[in-house]
Order: sequence, then C-alpha cells, then structure tokens
Amino acid sequence: MIKCPFCGKRHTIPIQYGMPTHEAFLDEQVGKIKLGGCIISEDNPSRYCKDCHKTFGKNFKNFGILEKVFFFIGGFGGDNHFIDISLESTSYSLTYRYLLPFDSKRKNEPIEQKRTLTEKEVAYLHGIIDKLYICEWARSSIDKDILDGTQWSIEIKYQGRRTIKKFGSNKFPPYFSELKKAMSKLSRGKF
Ligand SMILES: [Zn+2]
Repeated sequence: MIKCPFCGKRHTIPIQYGMPTHEAFLDEQVGKIKLGGCIISEDNPSRYCKDCHKTFGKNFKNFGILEKVFFFIGGFGGDNHFIDISLESTSYSLTYRYLLPFDSKRKNEPIEQKRTLTEKEVAYLHGIIDKLYICEWARSSIDKDILDGTQWSIEIKYQGRRTIKKFGSNKFPPYFSELKKAMSKLSRGKF
C-alpha cells in the first residue's frame, strides 16, 4: 500500500476519473477506489487518503526540465550536509559539501566534492521526486518546542517555474527518511 505523504498512513486508494461504470460505483462504496469526477485533467491527483482525506499523486512530468535540486540537513550542534544538483548544459553535476558542527573540536577538514551524475543516477533522482511526492509535501514541518536540533530543507526547481521549497525543524514528513537515504546514496555522503 502506498503511504500518504501528509499523515504517513497507508490507507490510500486510487482516484478514478471519467464517467463511472456501475462497477466503479460499487468499488467506491466498498472503499476500493475514490471517484474523481468526469473531468480528466493532467493536474488531477491520482490517490486519496482515507485517513486524512487529502489527495496526492499529481503528475509533475509536464513540469518540464529539472534545473536544480538542493538538499540540506544539519543543525547548530550537528554535522551539516549540503547537496547541490544542477543542470549544466546536457548533464547534471552534484556538489556535496560536508561541514562539521560549528563548535567542533574534531580536526577533520570540511569536504567538498563535485562530480557528474550518470544517466542512471539522474533517472533515480527523477524517480525519487515522483515516488516520494516531494513537490506535494506540506511547505514546512516544524516542532516549535525544540530549539536547535535538526534542520532540513529541499528545493526543487524546474526550468521557467518557481522554486518548490520544503523545510523543517525537528519534524519530518512521512517520506523524509526515504529522501535522506536517497540523498546520502547520490552524494555518497554518510548521514
Ligand atoms: Zn493521509
């Protein structure tokens, strides 16, 4: 079952568009599908959450060319990881920067590595954006009771469109651990 990007529960069902058949009505009655109405549009969400009643799974494929992805995780007392992926003419470059905590007494030098992503990695990145529904996450996830701690942000920019930005502090959306794992894999960083 597909996890809801808002509440994290797995009671999500597909939304069916178009003129419903008798069978579709029966399926909706037993909660197997959700009827989405007759209008079929590219912006239609594809899934419905039975717990929080939100819809998700919009098609971002028509958003055009992916230009930039930026990911940060860190905090005042922790290690800081920055991943910058950007389109440079025909390929994507990834810059990974790793900084020690500001008050660190360790002697490790900060690192900065830049490399070109393989075609397979670029496909993986596109898949991640899609499958983790990142563009649809709540804009911010913040636990106001905790100061400092872990901060994070992700920015996704498609050519000619506004940057999609999500950020948080000590609170993480349902798909965050999957995103973190993917970013660690792409950057070859350990976090
Ligand atoms: Zn939900």
